[in-house]
Amino acid sequence: MQNAIDDKIHEECGIFGIYDKSKAGNIASTVYYGLFALQHRGQEAAGIAVNHNREITLVRGLGLVSDVFKHKDLASMQGDIAIGHVRYSSGPFKGVENAQPITVNYAKGNLTVAHNGNITNSQALRTALENQGAIFHSNNDSEIICYLIARERLKCKTIEEAVANVVPMLKGAFSLLVMSPTKLIALRDPLGIRPLCMGYINESVVFASETCALETVGAKFERDIKPGEILVVSKDDMYSDMRFATDKSALCIFEHVYFARPDSTIDNQSVNEARMNAGKLLAMQYPVDADLVIGVPDSGLCSAIGYSAQSGIPYGTGLIKNRYIGRTFIQPTQAMRERSVALKLNALVSNVKGKRIVMIDDSIVRGTTLKNIVKLLKNAGATEVHVRISSPKFLYPCFYGTDIPDRSCLAAVKWTEEEIRQNLDADTLGFLKLESVKDIAPCSTADFCTACFDGKYPSCVDNTIDPQFIDKL
Ligand code: SF4
Repeated sequence: MQNAIDDKIHEECGIFGIYDKSKAGNIASTVYYGLFALQHRGQEAAGIAVNHNREITLVRGLGLVSDVFKHKDLASMQGDIAIGHVRYSSGPFKGVENAQPITVNYAKGNLTVAHNGNITNSQALRTALENQGAIFHSNNDSEIICYLIARERLKCKTIEEAVANVVPMLKGAFSLLVMSPTKLIALRDPLGIRPLCMGYINESVVFASETCALETVGAKFERDIKPGEILVVSKDDMYSDMRFATDKSALCIFEHVYFARPDSTIDNQSVNEARMNAGKLLAMQYPVDADLVIGVPDSGLCSAIGYSAQSGIPYGTGLIKNRYIGRTFIQPTQAMRERSVALKLNALVSNVKGKRIVMIDDSIVRGTTLKNIVKLLKNAGATEVHVRISSPKFLYPCFYGTDIPDRSCLAAVKWTEEEIRQNLDADTLGFLKLESVKDIAPCSTADFCTACFDGKYPSCVDNTIDPQFIDKL
């Protein structure tokens, strides 16, 4: 069911890993704080797996990072390699068996995987493997990846060779951390659709979905994992296999618009600056006479500052967010649903009363929440509300791990722009123009996926297995 107070699309996951060569402290605590910094990428489940002398200790559970791990768990999880995961589940499979990391014991020992993204041919792979007797414990595509790597490892000399054999079988988006008894491997799919970066704490190598998590654990950012790169860390060595790297890339543009934290940098582009740039572009594309620019917390705030800077209209606070509402919040009753936005946001009457407001939000999915926010501002005395959206219209589904609802639910599919404006009861409305969406990130070393706006998918998204691999499965 749609969360009545949260008409947003969501990221699937965040991942964090460390090869602790310097033995600087409790390894599980480092992963815990890394996951804590990535909590915005998934709030429904979390897990940490620690490798100690070839034995894996795994703690997984449903809920926030702070709910899942107890101090005694972390204190007892000693080891030298560890990976962790926070999960948001878009489908019906929300049980703890779908929490990650996924770990398997097989003939060569153990193998643990944490995955951010979505494998579009996972069902075809699952069916092919099940027809040969494979048994899966979850509905998770990460378990399929884990199984495939373990199977390949039986046929080749090293875990990294096994990983490299599996990469071409997978379609879709995958930033992965793979932990063997002696190695930690980080890889990004050949288009780099989901982010992954690395840094150091002394000699210890740290990987994270976003740089904000490196900062939190005191790691010095080194670089992003390149699209198609497989980076292998062992006790005495570290090297990259670039066989899948090409000159193409397609980072999800929505990482900059909404998913990532503004204090992160992805592929050389500051997320905060990208959002400010979106606001500046909106000010140029949709100027209006107004008294105050406000943002819908949190992701609309940076763009509102950008709009203000470009337009000269003062920036201010117009909406106050209740910071203690998580995604596990009990759904409002039908009677309360009408007022559901008030559970999350309140208008700052003293700032908005009698003013013409420009209000920036990052996106319109169904339009339900935004309509209520406009109403909130008008009830608080705003004389005009001009809505500006720092992304283009959502028109197409995402196959790479973002839970954009069925097309029939999308406001921009159902209605014309003028109908959306009327539905919101906004005085004017403007979406960031599609042709300028990539301009929000001029410093990025990556090109972008913009498929949910323009339908141009950067890779094949079908649920099939390439014929060359069918015999190998
Ligand atoms: S389709 Fe949209 S949400 Fe999905 S990866 Fe591409 S830009 Fe991101």
